[in-house]
Amino acid sequence: MEVDRFIELRRQLHQIPELGFQEYKTQQLLLDYIQSLPQDRLELETWRTGILVKVPGYRSRQCIGYRTDIDGLPIEEQTDYEFRSQHPGHMHACGHDMHMAIALGLLTHFVHHPIQDDLLFIFQPAEEGPGGALPMLTSQPFIRWKPDQIFALHVAPEYPVGTISTRPGILFANTSELNIHLTGKSGHGAYPHQGNDMVVALTQLVTQLHSIVSRNVDPMDSVVLSIGKIEAGEKENIIAGHASLNGTIRTLSLPGMEKVKNRVSQILQGIQTSFQCEATLDWGSNYLQVKNDSLITEAFLDWARKETQLQVFECNQAMVGEDFGYFLEEIPGMMFWLGVDTPYGLHHPKLQPNEAAIPVAIQLLSQYFTQLSK
Ligand SMILES: [Zn+2]
Ligand SMILES: [Zn+2]
Repeated sequence: MEVDRFIELRRQLHQIPELGFQEYKTQQLLLDYIQSLPQDRLELETWRTGILVKVPGYRSRQCIGYRTDIDGLPIEEQTDYEFRSQHPGHMHACGHDMHMAIALGLLTHFVHHPIQDDLLFIFQPAEEGPGGALPMLTSQPFIRWKPDQIFALHVAPEYPVGTISTRPGILFANTSELNIHLTGKSGHGAYPHQGNDMVVALTQLVTQLHSIVSRNVDPMDSVVLSIGKIEAGEKENIIAGHASLNGTIRTLSLPGMEKVKNRVSQILQGIQTSFQCEATLDWGSNYLQVKNDSLITEAFLDWARKETQLQVFECNQAMVGEDFGYFLEEIPGMMFWLGVDTPYGLHHPKLQPNEAAIPVAIQLLSQYFTQLSK
């Protein structure tokens, strides 16, 4: 198999990053490539801007699924790539172009070297938001072809090429946004008693929200509550009639998320009472934790340690979110980190994953799926 082909495809995909459910050019490029493969060896369905490709096995007992995400981010690229983004303000800064190239490599391999079992390749839109996994799971083509096991990877900037890691159980956090708006009464800065100042209410709210992690959550149950943005008022001498706050919550357990959300609601009730203001609370987009199946993950790690030359290790949990968690809630499987060795982290405008990781992943997973099916 011609490895350079998939590096070239990654570069083509890198030039056309598109946001969630707007991946029209990406879908077309993927379809053009998939349609260049022997069509009698595959079945194809599209769902919104996503694609599902089934490669039937020759004596199928089960279906093995592989999922890639396909969307980019609203980030202005700052690399000096010749093949940098052609879409101003958009970039593949989370490595989903790498994920897609690997999926195409695997698909190509299995079209030419079918295994006993069926394989399903899932090109999922909108991982970065608003979340494509959950609606895709309930789509007709997915229900018809639902795999029995499912796998995915994510590029890991901090690991060298040739390194992979994962862990049984929880890998990534439950996540939720936190959007609050407070409405009081504006007025002249010299007459505070005639207004109702939302700057004071908001600063109290921020302080109280930060007491949740330190005072309400079991220290053994990791939780993050970060408020990334606050806004209030118009001018130095006007009492602010409005204030708002946007943040994110990450927890490693579902009860942890429930507890934090309950406390946020209770604290907000208290703020409304004590400052006589109105508040709206919106949880924005939420992602379920990524929970790897223990048996599948142990088996994968054991196999990779014995049968490959890769550096394989068990990693810690990370407080990031990934909507692959919704697939894993329905189907046993796992996700792992693939080392791509770049000093810039995910979502950084200079992210430059090492493309040598593409053939590493294609070889790893083509071998693994083949032996799974023996
Ligand atoms: Zn991302
Ligand atoms: Zn990502």
